[in-house]
Amino acid sequence: MCGIVGYVGRAQAAPILLDGLRRLEYRGYDSAGIAVVDGGRLETRKCAGRIAALTQLMRKQPVSGSLGVSHTRWATHGKVTDQNAHPHFDASGKLALVHNGVIENYQALKDELIRSGDTNFRSETDTEVLAHLIGKLYDESCASTVDIPEKKARLLAAVRAALRQVIGTYGITLVHADIPDFMIGARRGSPLVLGVGDGENFLASDVSAIVAYTRDAVYLNDFDVVAAGRDKFEITSLAGDSTEHPVSKVEFTAEDIGKGDYPHYMLKEIFEQPNTVRDAMRGRLDPDECTAKLGGLNMTPPELRDVGRIVLTGCGTALHAGRVGEYLIERLANFPTDVEYASEFRHRNTPMTPETLVFAISQSGETADTLGALRESRRKGFRTLGICNNVASTIARESDGGVYMHAGPEIGVAATKSFTSQLAILTLLGLLFGRMRNLSATDGSRVIGALEALPGQIEAVLELSDQIKEIAKKYVDANGMLFFGRQFNFPVALEGALKMKEITYLFAEGHPSAELKHGVIALVRPDLPSVFIAPDDSVFSKNLNNIEQVKARKGPVIAVTSGNGPKHLKGIANEIIVLPEAPEYVMPILAVVPLQLLAYHLAVELCRDVDKPRNLAKSVTVE
Ligand code: GLU
Repeated sequence: MCGIVGYVGRAQAAPILLDGLRRLEYRGYDSAGIAVVDGGRLETRKCAGRIAALTQLMRKQPVSGSLGVSHTRWATHGKVTDQNAHPHFDASGKLALVHNGVIENYQALKDELIRSGDTNFRSETDTEVLAHLIGKLYDESCASTVDIPEKKARLLAAVRAALRQVIGTYGITLVHADIPDFMIGARRGSPLVLGVGDGENFLASDVSAIVAYTRDAVYLNDFDVVAAGRDKFEITSLAGDSTEHPVSKVEFTAEDIGKGDYPHYMLKEIFEQPNTVRDAMRGRLDPDECTAKLGGLNMTPPELRDVGRIVLTGCGTALHAGRVGEYLIERLANFPTDVEYASEFRHRNTPMTPETLVFAISQSGETADTLGALRESRRKGFRTLGICNNVASTIARESDGGVYMHAGPEIGVAATKSFTSQLAILTLLGLLFGRMRNLSATDGSRVIGALEALPGQIEAVLELSDQIKEIAKKYVDANGMLFFGRQFNFPVALEGALKMKEITYLFAEGHPSAELKHGVIALVRPDLPSVFIAPDDSVFSKNLNNIEQVKARKGPVIAVTSGNGPKHLKGIANEIIVLPEAPEYVMPILAVVPLQLLAYHLAVELCRDVDKPRNLAKSVTVE
């Protein structure tokens, strides 16, 4: 959460910073701000609201200069106000700092600063305290007479000394009005990447902000401090030791992060799923051996053979993917698989057996809770693998191996294509582990056939978009929505409800269908439709019973079914959405698509901000 962009070079900083912020807006949109160094003065513009509001402000009051920092905020400490918008300043007003993360001991640091006579705080944020602390340490160490190289060294030393006092997480970028052509960045727990340009350098929370200017990137690690000028940069540790980092090529271009002809990123990403699911499987199917090839796991066949239990951990949509994975791996490989909320797992003493393999699932690879779970699991000595989309992300780099989704940038705050890619990968894992155990070559071959059929089948489901739009129109006055499914499709119900909550703000809950009669049925009423994911599978007749129970209480039913389902549902369900036929273990990949479309079309009908829903942001880098 929060987007940071910093620039040092020869071009005007403001347009580059604003452009970068626009590309990072999915990370937070409570407020936005910019500070540019202009002839020894800091020029600042900031306001509550979106980047569009900042752009308007800057049109009226332009700034000039080739060094600057900028920020789009997802507030953790302090209300959404102009004052609390980043950048924040030190007591002298000469140092401008932007921050992603949480300074957990900000109150103790602030009390200490106040005791030492610094009372010039202008915001309620934790971030401002860090700006003051760095500024104080710098001012104490630096007389105005020292030359610029010495000022740089002393600012760097002040940053290190301040960060050593910080408890919490940070990705920061800062500039000082007295030091031209020089910016500093540092990270711990929140992502920060250096973009290496020709006569210019960039710092950003995510490469998407800077890929239009350079595709050469250095991904910083925790406790790195980078000092960047126009033509050079140096990365050191918090202790001041030099550290070597490779410059990597970013694998996507600025065009890849456009909306194309779609009105929203979310719709574009829903429609990308035939390709993204194909890309998740590309080169990973082995039809000769009837298994999957996942070299990124970095495990030998005997090591894979020794795995006796899997723990899947993640948050939100990734957790729901894990829940489908639990059914998948148990069905195909027949060994115990557990799913844990990453945020709970890391603080819980889950009994783990030595043969346990842990997977951390995160689209961004930066989710703070999932990263915490990964670190806790590795600390305990468990082999921990990542399932991520962002190749250079912290989770990808810190895990013992893993599987990339290769889904391309996901910008819509509500995750869609990452979910189906995660499911495709979990099916590959089920196949791989299954084939090392009891799954026959014939059954392995069937799984491969089912996977290969998916892209075409998703295309067919996407053709239902207009039908689903009509359904959305019909239920625009609904007071909420319930989602039900059994077995593989119970987590799909959870995911359908999550999409609905995220972008329509309607109350929505997902449950195993059978739970209806254990309490949820009390909610059923004519203005609360129930969506049943009820394909024509081994539990269809059970789902049908539950659908009848809802109908008997005048609850409208939207049924997502397949095969002979429509025959049985005619006259019972109010709406019937028909999926292609597929084995149960891949059905979630098809069944979630109409639910994504239902949430999308309903959100559009309700005039919601689909790509930037209220209170949310993507890439949750705070705990
Ligand atoms: N803690 C800072 C604030 O509230 C930064 C928040 C974030 O990284 O999301 O302004």
